[in-house]
Amino acid sequence: MIAPVARDLKEDTSARKLYEDLTDGGADRSRDAIEQMLRTNGLAIDDPRLRYLSALMQGYAQTIEIPFEAIAPALSGTNQTLLSRALTGNLVIPDFTAFCAELERLFVAVRECREGDVASYIPQLARADADGFAMAVCTVDGQRFAIGDTDARFGVQSTCKPINYAIALDRLGIDAVHRHVGREPSGHSFNEITLNAARLPHNPMINAGAIMCASLIAPGLSAADRFDSVFQTWRALAGAGAVGFDNAVFLSERDTADRNFALAYFMRENGAFPDGTDLKATLELYFQCCSITIDAPGLATVAATFANGGVCPLTSERVFSNDTTKNCLSLMASCGLYDFSGEFAFTVGLPAKSGVSGALFLTIPGVCGIALWSPRLDALGNSVRGVEFARRLTKTFTFDSFADGPDAGAQTNPRRRSAETIVDQATYFCAAAAKGDLTELRRLMARSIDVNLADYDGRTALHLAASEGRADVLRYLLSRGADRDLSDRWGNTALFDAQRNEDAESIALLQTCTTSAVSASKARRGTKVLSLEG
Ligand code: GLN
Repeated sequence: MIAPVARDLKEDTSARKLYEDLTDGGADRSRDAIEQMLRTNGLAIDDPRLRYLSALMQGYAQTIEIPFEAIAPALSGTNQTLLSRALTGNLVIPDFTAFCAELERLFVAVRECREGDVASYIPQLARADADGFAMAVCTVDGQRFAIGDTDARFGVQSTCKPINYAIALDRLGIDAVHRHVGREPSGHSFNEITLNAARLPHNPMINAGAIMCASLIAPGLSAADRFDSVFQTWRALAGAGAVGFDNAVFLSERDTADRNFALAYFMRENGAFPDGTDLKATLELYFQCCSITIDAPGLATVAATFANGGVCPLTSERVFSNDTTKNCLSLMASCGLYDFSGEFAFTVGLPAKSGVSGALFLTIPGVCGIALWSPRLDALGNSVRGVEFARRLTKTFTFDSFADGPDAGAQTNPRRRSAETIVDQATYFCAAAAKGDLTELRRLMARSIDVNLADYDGRTALHLAASEGRADVLRYLLSRGADRDLSDRWGNTALFDAQRNEDAESIALLQTCTTSAVSASKARRGTKVLSLEG
């Protein structure tokens, strides 16, 4: 256990406030409860940004109370910003729990689909678990969720193409790279032997273009250093997630590579490569890149780094420049799904990249990255479940890049609401009390909302919870200092609402300590009725 830093933290009121919010107003100060509070907002305790907090909690058993002093040093500085943004609903997807519930619903529906076949051109892919399925999400604020076979490692295959393109772009610049590879969809399958009018591969997202990009990555270095530079880039993109290498896949790829050799010789015949390109070294580097392995949570973080302008959300490391990221995303949007790219742009409208292993990653710029893995492929080589999930995703959320704003259709917008006014907050607070949404209530409390705030009719959250028979909400509001004696414009207290409902549990909660609810209600003192002018 790391000893708490010896300084007077009593004065540190914002750290104390954070502690209050993390422990649900002091209701449960156990490590379990703190970790649960973080999870609700999408933050996992293994998040590299929460390393210090995690280390300070290490010495405590899950159910033991953790005093403020023990974790106070981790509740200030950059951690404080992240934690207070999370607890006050200021991360990009404030209601992360609801968002994940919806993703889970899509996952379960799509899991029923058993169409398509696993790739069989090499034994390692033919042996893949056809029904394996995983989905993971990582937002630009590093909120994470994963479901299904989340531990399964799979080969990245063609999802290495945008990464190799971005490495080449970042190092050489647009002009140097596009002297050797085009940027138009090919209209052909991914390994078609065809070049564009300039005798160059059509784009970096099909085999010919990907082999070309491999030739551009550090050609002067040894084979080991060239591969290492790609591998380290993957690790940085995945925020030190589970990135590995499958040597059996590499050996098989190399042994069955007639088509890729044919593509390379065809390009050399047409003078497409830079002078002095070593074809064998280039192809081997390409096969090695296809043989990198990852799991769905790692691939989601890679996608999130692309969604976040090239900066990994979990480590804040800049991996690619903004321009490189943007250029790569444009080509993913137009060419990322081989010969299905046009239809995918039309129906889904997101930059994405697929691979023959059944990997598919989607990027929702400024919001999140989503990874899917399901090895059954359609006739064009894309994961059947992956494509279906993507389709349903943009039918459910306002993520289609080409849709006209958040209110364009029946989709919900899970993004943070901008610039809420106090009027909005009071409305959300009362609505959450009526719906029994404790997560939203906690979030608004963390924003220092006044628990006794009332609407135009003088109805407080307590009134609404009592009217709807929400005993758990009443308990929570009372523990956070809600005043039982406030009455609405008709002179009624929350107790009156509970009595009208004949709700014994709520009546008991509201009666405790109330001497005379009815006479107090007449006084109507202290109610802060929200004024729209104010
Ligand atoms: N290794 C595969 C190939 O080059 C990658 C292709 C893919 O994922 N579509 O053929």
